[in-house]
Order: sequence, then structure tokens, then C-alpha cells
Amino acid sequence: MTITVYYHPGYAAPLGTHVMPIDKFARVAEALAGEPGIRLEEPSPLTAAQLERVHTREYIEAVRTGEPRALAESQKFPWTPELYPSVLLTGGGCLAAARRALDDGVAGALVSGFHHSHGDHGEGFCTFNSLVVAADALRAGDWMAGHPAKSIERVAVLDMDLHYGNGTASLATSRPWLFNLSIYGNDYDGNTAYRDVTERRHRDGANHRSIALAAGSGRSAMLAAMEEGLAMLEAWGRPDLLLYQAGADPYREDPYSPLDLDHDDLLERDRAAFAYAKRTGIPVAWVLAGGYTKDVSKVVRVHTNTSVAARDIFA
Ligand SMILES: [Zn+2]
Repeated sequence: MTITVYYHPGYAAPLGTHVMPIDKFARVAEALAGEPGIRLEEPSPLTAAQLERVHTREYIEAVRTGEPRALAESQKFPWTPELYPSVLLTGGGCLAAARRALDDGVAGALVSGFHHSHGDHGEGFCTFNSLVVAADALRAGDWMAGHPAKSIERVAVLDMDLHYGNGTASLATSRPWLFNLSIYGNDYDGNTAYRDVTERRHRDGANHRSIALAAGSGRSAMLAAMEEGLAMLEAWGRPDLLLYQAGADPYREDPYSPLDLDHDDLLERDRAAFAYAKRTGIPVAWVLAGGYTKDVSKVVRVHTNTSVAARDIFA
């Protein structure tokens, strides 16, 4: 089978020099072009109505217009008029992958899931929460003009970014049909990263669970946490869709990472996630997330490997 991966050059808004290597998704797309079994496709942007299911009108307007500026920049990006169209495309990529996964069993998008984004503000470079926007749109059977709707009830997020997915968890509290599982090495709250999870970690709820990886954790601890977390998901119940967020920032050379995970370890992470989806028959859509290693080619390699793992597991 050929796996569809959604990419659009408009994902990257020109934000100037920034800790977030904004061109990394273009470089992943370049690396994947010509890769057998993988087809790149362009998504449509989200609509404002799709955003409004998850985000307040005031926050959406702030991101669109730049005013009030503090709210427009709550995710810590300097606001530009290009920000809004770029995040609509990014969220559209996540939604397109999720919708495609319902037909094909698997699909991906070269976007971040933006898991720090809350309903009424952004945090940590995350403007709108693409994961929850996609889940809400599919539940409403609202996908895209001209495409058959396929509605679902229950959605689970497997969040394997380095940072705790606090925005997704906050949105899960009012969505009992959504399960958020965050396996993390840094806690995160109010635009502050807490590097040591033994000093601070998040409180869980019935449908937002988490497992903290202690500093120095390597492959075996990570895979054990995934097994434990997926058992929590099974106890919650079977989802109709799994959204898998594969961050590149757990990588051992990442300036934020206290974990001991190299490229092969993170490839095993991806393989474990896709093998679970294949074994259980739960459709899986993957997105990417943070990655701040100075040598961007190392970030690109983590992200490229995720698509390759999906292709190899589902081939
Ligand atoms: Zn992160």
C-alpha cells in the first residue's frame, strides 16, 4: 500500500530567526520525496467553524488580526499576518491525515500537533490544538466539501513529545470521548518547562493520563512506559481513531532533553506505536512535534524515520 503524508509549503510562516527550526518540515518532505510507498499530498486549510469548536472566538480573532497582541503572541511567536493562514494549513494537515487514516488505516502529516495550545490561549509555540480540532471535526462528521463524511465517537492521543501535553489534557477535561496519554521527560505549564520530572509532574484525570520518564531514561524505560500507557488506554476503552504525536525533542542531543534516546531508539518508539495500531486495527494518524537540536539534519532524521516506520509496519 501507499501511505499518504500531508505536506504544504505554506505550513511555515516566515517568523524570522527562532528556536523552532521553521523549515524542518520542508526538509522532511524533501527527504520523503521519491521514498517508495509514500505519497505526499497537500491538505486544505481548516475553516474558522472547525476552529471554533475548540478555541474561543476572542483567541481566534487575536491570532487572525494580531490584536490584542499579548493574546495573539501567547504561544511565544512574534505575530505576523502570515501566522493565521499557516496555522489553518497546519491544522488542515492534521485533519486530512486523521480523515485519511479512517479509510486507509494509516496516514500522516508533516505538522506539529500543537499540544500546548488551550481553548483560550496558546503556549509553547502551539497556536491552535490541531489534535483536538481534528478530533472534534471528525466527530461532527464535518470534513471537507465534496468528500464523504465518516463520523466517529472516540479518539485517543498518544503523545510522545518530550514535553507534557498540557493543552490537550486541558481540552480533554470537557471531552469525555477523548483520551490523552502523554509520555514525557519534561513537565510543562504556563510557558515554563520543568526539566526534572521528579520535582514536578502533572496531575492526571480519568481521560488524561501520563507517565513521566526520569532523566537518563533510555529505550527500555520508554518502551515499558508505552506498554503501560497503552494498557491504560485499553482500560478506558477502544477508540475509533488514534492520533500519534511523534516529537523529535526526546532525542539525546536536544537542548531540552534529559533523556538518553538516539535515532534508533526513537525509530523503535515509532515502530511500537504503529505496530500497536496495526495489531489492534485502530486507524492511526501521526503528526510530528518539537525538535530543537542545533544540527537540524538530526531533527529531520527523527521525523523522516517516523514516516518510514509507518510505511514499513503497514507495508
Ligand atoms: Zn516538545
